Amino acid sequence: MKTVTSEAQLHAEIAEAKAAGKKVAFVPTMGALHQGHLSLIEVAKRHADFVVVSIFVNPLQFGPNEDFDKYPRTLETDSAQLVEAGVDLLFTPTVEVIYPGSQEPTKSAGPVGSVLEGAVRPGHFDGMLTVVSRLFDLVQPNVAVFGAKDAQQLHLINAMTKRDYPSIKIIEAPTIREAGGLALSSRNRYLDEEAHEVAQQLSAALRAGAAAVHPGGQTNPNLVIETATNALATPEAKLEYIALVDKDTFEPIENGFSGRALLLIAARVGETRLIDNTELTF
Ligand code: AMP
Repeated sequence: MKTVTSEAQLHAEIAEAKAAGKKVAFVPTMGALHQGHLSLIEVAKRHADFVVVSIFVNPLQFGPNEDFDKYPRTLETDSAQLVEAGVDLLFTPTVEVIYPGSQEPTKSAGPVGSVLEGAVRPGHFDGMLTVVSRLFDLVQPNVAVFGAKDAQQLHLINAMTKRDYPSIKIIEAPTIREAGGLALSSRNRYLDEEAHEVAQQLSAALRAGAAAVHPGGQTNPNLVIETATNALATPEAKLEYIALVDKDTFEPIENGFSGRALLLIAARVGETRLIDNTELTF
């Protein structure tokens, strides 16, 4: 695996791979890698011959009171894991490489960018789309892989890519979980043993909500939300939202809906903010 930091080095490596007829897959990350990230790389390898991973903690997608400064940075162990996973190229740009001019968002996430995660984290999705767009311009992949774990992010990336990068194929990779159900996340390392136990309850609430979908396909969104909310009724987890949306539009679903929906949850356990979701079919 080669590691490159500059735009020129990146271009040279990608040009060489493409000249050799290789299909390029891209997996953007913020590092602090875990099995969830590694599963994305496995998916990437199935779709391409040359896998590029980026590690960049994007200042633009963190709010002023969020954890940008203390976000885990573990480049050495990340790099060793990527070699083991068979990654071809690691791109670790500096802020100056990504934002040579001003650090202002150049993409707008629109209405879906200001609900749910976007309501709690104003500007987050504009910053996220801006960095993904910049990385797409730099890497120019044939395919890019993103996790279903960040469902609203994935929805917005799909929309932007369809509009602005129609030649890039976006692949959704399933959420990897611990045996107890907790979705893997770089932020899980902030959790002590007790908080870790509480955090398991987010996925338990999603499972409870999923079990309240009538197998006959009868839609009762309120019952699903209510069941999930009651399942999380613990003072240690501060619920921010539980919502049920149409997977294709991110609009709240109503009685009579049929199709693919997402049950989404966000909660704080101590200082740590966690999100998760599960797909339901009505
Ligand atoms: P991050 O480093 O948190 O920005 O995440 C980089 C990519 O990994 C995103 O596409 C995430 O959706 C994905 N990801 C994070 N956690 C998981 C997980 N538990 N399972 C699958 N993909 C994940």
